[in-house]
Amino acid sequence: MPFSTFGLNPALVTAISELGYQKPTTIQTKAIPVILQGKDLIAAAQTGTGKTASFVLPILHQLSQAQTQKKKRIRALILVPTRELAIQVDEKIQQYAKHLPLTSLAMYGGVDEKAQKQALIDGVDVLVATPGRLLDMYGQRAVYFEEVEVMVMDEADRMLDMGFIDDINKILDRLPSDIQHLLFSATLSNKVRDLAKSAIPDPFEISIAANQASKANIEQWLITVDKDKKSALLSHLIKENQWQQALIFIETKHGAAKLAAQLEKRGIEAEAFHSGRSQAIRTRLLEEFKAGKIRYLIATGVGARGIDIHELTRVVNYDLPFPADEYVHRIGRTGRADAKGEAISLVSKDNFKNLCMIESRLGHLIERREVAGFEPKKPVPISILNYVPKHKRNPQQ
Ligand code: AMP
Repeated sequence: MPFSTFGLNPALVTAISELGYQKPTTIQTKAIPVILQGKDLIAAAQTGTGKTASFVLPILHQLSQAQTQKKKRIRALILVPTRELAIQVDEKIQQYAKHLPLTSLAMYGGVDEKAQKQALIDGVDVLVATPGRLLDMYGQRAVYFEEVEVMVMDEADRMLDMGFIDDINKILDRLPSDIQHLLFSATLSNKVRDLAKSAIPDPFEISIAANQASKANIEQWLITVDKDKKSALLSHLIKENQWQQALIFIETKHGAAKLAAQLEKRGIEAEAFHSGRSQAIRTRLLEEFKAGKIRYLIATGVGARGIDIHELTRVVNYDLPFPADEYVHRIGRTGRADAKGEAISLVSKDNFKNLCMIESRLGHLIERREVAGFEPKKPVPISILNYVPKHKRNPQQ
């Protein structure tokens, strides 16, 4: 089924075909018609499935039907958890709206407000914002909500994990009540459903089953290894397999810096990407990584959401993340929109509980491999599917 059958504004269809999209992804096929009908929607879809276009395209279509832009008044609001995601969603909007007279802005904290305020005065149709900065600007009367027609909560689970619940509720209270509400989340957990219930009492629901969470085009495997051998193993894998690029996830800022130094000692140049580095540096690192100038980027969780690189073929979990959904988000950095990808996890005995939780979330075991010379002295036990943790906190800690 081609994009033209949705009845989208031809300017959008042209932009999509210029980007090389040939057919809609599953979430797009399901969500676009529902949103075009003006219905409220909650959808379980993780990053990498084409979910951004599934709400951005129908929103841009709706906005293109009338020209009502007024200064400081936005017409669509997209709430996102991180700056990186705000930038990424805004980039997509600009690509899709290329042939339309619609404007957008990414608004997030940690940078000077002046330019964002000026852009709002000049006129913004679609605002992509993190909750804290948005409330701040609203409090300063830099933005008004009475013209809002549609709002999106993107990566709602992540926003709740990051403690944005009060901010989101405040924003929902301040928005007009008769607008269209859309919520996207990797999983529809009870917490997410509670949030949805208050804002969207009777939504249309789209859900992709848990075992579909592992995308078929991502080859997932893990290597069991002792904790103190992980950095040597990673260097070995990079050199032996001549990896062109890898996005390497690690739990802590300190760990990221240490690993970069360890790789450097073995002649491998890598950069650490984490919240301790300035926004300007993070933006530059991402650009250089996208351009292939940086081959190995070591990122903490903050990097997981905002990185959208078409040709990224490989993600490495140096640590296993907690909670399990984070694993799904991380591996979603690769194999995007049907390209082939590879997700490799380095698993030591102390990662065992996280491994069980991840495999239970996926609904299947991840293939185990051993690498000669790195066989663990402390073996990782056989996994338990349908594992139920006793404590909710990270069992690795
Ligand atoms: P998302 O899940 O929204 O982060 O999108 C993942 C990637 O897929 C982005 O790089 C999009 O540009 C790309 N994409 C989205 N929809 C399509 C499509 N229908 N065909 C090909 N690529 C797409």
